[in-house]
Amino acid sequence: MTITSTEIYRYSIPMVPFTIATGTMHFAQNIFIRIHTSEGITGVGECSAFPMITGETQTTCFEMAKEFATIWKNKNAVEIEERINELHRFTAGNHTAKSAFDMALHDINAQYAGLPLYKFLGGIKKKKLQTDVTVGIHPPEEMALQAKQFIDQGVEILKIKVGKNSQHDIEAIQCITNAVGTHIPLRIDANQGWNYEDAVRVLTALKDFNIEFCEQPMRRHDDDLLPALIHISPIKIMADESVFDHYDAKRLIQAGACDYVNIKFAKSGGILEAQKINAVCEEKNIACMMGGMLESRVALTAFAHFATAFDNVRFYDMDTCMLGHKTDPVTGGATYNHFCVEIPDTLGIGADVEENFLQQLDKIII
Ligand SMILES: [Mg+2]
Repeated sequence: MTITSTEIYRYSIPMVPFTIATGTMHFAQNIFIRIHTSEGITGVGECSAFPMITGETQTTCFEMAKEFATIWKNKNAVEIEERINELHRFTAGNHTAKSAFDMALHDINAQYAGLPLYKFLGGIKKKKLQTDVTVGIHPPEEMALQAKQFIDQGVEILKIKVGKNSQHDIEAIQCITNAVGTHIPLRIDANQGWNYEDAVRVLTALKDFNIEFCEQPMRRHDDDLLPALIHISPIKIMADESVFDHYDAKRLIQAGACDYVNIKFAKSGGILEAQKINAVCEEKNIACMMGGMLESRVALTAFAHFATAFDNVRFYDMDTCMLGHKTDPVTGGATYNHFCVEIPDTLGIGADVEENFLQQLDKIII
């Protein structure tokens, strides 16, 4: 089975304006691809560029996608590891762009094997994928109000963004807990926002709250301070921005620098490497979370298949398309049922994008 052509789309999804350091984003900066094969099987892949974390933009992903499509043209679609290694030999980094190609190749191979993706990855049966829902950084009262609205809608786990100002963070968690009660587990995510002193201050101050874990308290370059922080912190620490691949995971686990790891295909370069991260973690009893950037339900469905296939993936941060996407142009694929992500039994990933939506996008076929 050879790769015959690849369609590449600048898959911009209108969003409720979303402010990041470089300005306000009105679109999720995604790329959608379809890889066609000589057997008539087509695989879909999607990635979402998040420059602050990965150093890639929608434009770099689009340009790299053209290179990757050229490299893969007329190559054997069944040799997954060989195809991915070709991309690594061509360019370092560019994990997000690579992840769309890795996803499409896994989709093709699962369909070729006559299996839904989670079974192709070795999964046996489905499990409950209860996602958290994220509250962004605002004045504490506003955050509490939003948290309460989510709980009233049936959300069972909240993820709270922190990391801008330690006093604000402590107040926000107090306000939210007052609003929703202590029975709701909170996950907090500092997105590298604290220095060591801030991290110690906030984590120790939150000792008596119902906090499941804290994601990425400090900058990646402060990883050497994590073992000391873990020693003091009453709250478990999850590595996110510090772990892109299984080498990162190994380094942190060996140093005693994390309790959990957040896997995102946009960092790992896709499913192949994500499996290696999960294996390294499982061996050391470090549970993983499945997370994402601002992907649509195409990638969300692939995340859900991955999370289903591996028991060691025990936390699900899969509210990406609930976070302000104004449209859902995806056909088939995973659905939300009371904040649980449910996957179809279709072969492969089982999701695609509506032709009407694709027609208005920048496109190239290679
Ligand atoms: Mg995070």
